[in-house]
Amino acid sequence: MSQSLFADAMTRLDKALQHVSISPEAIERLRYPKASLSVSIPVRLDSGELKVFQGYRVRYDDTRGPTKGGIRYHPNVSLDEVQSLAFWMTFKCAAIGIPFGGAKGGIAVNPKALSRMELERLSRGYIDAIADFIGPDTDIPAPDVYTNATIMGWMMDQYSIISRRFSPAVVTGKPTAIGGSLGRETATAMGAYFVIRSLMTKHQKLPQVTTVAIQGFGNAGAVLAQLLYEAGYKVVAVSDSKGAIYNPQGLDIPSVRAYQQAHKGIEAVYCEESVCNLGDRQLLTNSELLTLDVDVLVPAALENQITLANAHEVKAKFIFEVANGPVNSAADLILQQNGVCVVPDILVNSGGVTVSYFEWLQNRSGLYWSLEDINQRLQEKMEAETSQIIDLAEELSLSLRTAAYVHALKRLAAAIEAKGTQQYFAQS
Ligand code: NAD
Repeated sequence: MSQSLFADAMTRLDKALQHVSISPEAIERLRYPKASLSVSIPVRLDSGELKVFQGYRVRYDDTRGPTKGGIRYHPNVSLDEVQSLAFWMTFKCAAIGIPFGGAKGGIAVNPKALSRMELERLSRGYIDAIADFIGPDTDIPAPDVYTNATIMGWMMDQYSIISRRFSPAVVTGKPTAIGGSLGRETATAMGAYFVIRSLMTKHQKLPQVTTVAIQGFGNAGAVLAQLLYEAGYKVVAVSDSKGAIYNPQGLDIPSVRAYQQAHKGIEAVYCEESVCNLGDRQLLTNSELLTLDVDVLVPAALENQITLANAHEVKAKFIFEVANGPVNSAADLILQQNGVCVVPDILVNSGGVTVSYFEWLQNRSGLYWSLEDINQRLQEKMEAETSQIIDLAEELSLSLRTAAYVHALKRLAAAIEAKGTQQYFAQS
């Protein structure tokens, strides 16, 4: 049987532990989630039928602050997946240096099969079930795969109804009309863009000669494609759950996005005003996209996309993990041997949680920032932490993944040890 996602995630911790000296108690603390909740959510469908969905919320570690993490709607959601994502969130918040611990939630559901009203009842039902587990000072959800600002708005509203007070800080990624932050929807992609730009500049790769393939054309992948396109990169392939489009000359990303918004799919089109014409393109599968001969590969869909089965076929020189956990630990070894530079999820996609932190700060202070302020602060944070992780990798001859974990681990261990260690209590 293949190893669980969580067991695989723990191997990254074990690897980082070889390069940092921290108390055994802190290590022990980080091996287990603080609390896990499984709930069933009964939903009355439009047909009148009652259907029960399975939901989860895991709070992994709150030593550095309230726990933070998105909510995923996907048929494959399981406790193992949610726990792994909560573990990654813990290390992500520590790596990027924001005062949050890690959590994650999810519902095993195909949201595309539900009407909008059914989706609202499911989202409110989920909050009814987990309301005692979350809160502005304890655990703060956000969007993830197949959840969005509207769903976050329903969740915040439901929590406010239950707690009998307007509680915008309980959820981030809300619509701006009810306390959402400017720039939140583009934050993950923009953060990833700053990381890519830092690395490409360091390796003296100019955008005009850099080809990019992106798996996943959702909130994170499509916005990143746009930012890279605007900066002059050649985005040659993008995909959604149905498959990929590829043009070695580069795709016209604004037109692909316009087409996607109108048709709920992707096509290599060139649009003028509202008229879109099909351009040259090859259709590929998602697995073919992963092995294209490009400079930069961006997995921005789901976990476990590059594994023992296909890692040796990857031709890209750089992989930027916008998705959480797209490369498993067995693939890491092969990619490293083949000289592929993998820039880890806990750094690359941390722009989302960083602007979620800004949203939470704004909700709590009641003072709202301009988009320029938000993007400026995001850029400063992403570039500063990226540079520290690169320096650490060079200083200790580590992969960027292990360096990012070591960087995070130092902050986590300091917080755990600040509460007292065996050594401290043994002193007379
Ligand atoms: P999304 O739901 O907006 O988009 C997901 C995209 O992946 C869609 O284009 C979908 O068609 C595609 N997809 C789904 N199944 C696929 C498959 N089997 N093969 C290829 N493509 C597939 O989700 P998102 O918010 O863009 O999140 C994408 C990834 O980024 C996830 O791993 C998520 O955890 C991670 N992430 C997102 C955020 C955020 O703020 N949105 C923050 C951090 C990390």
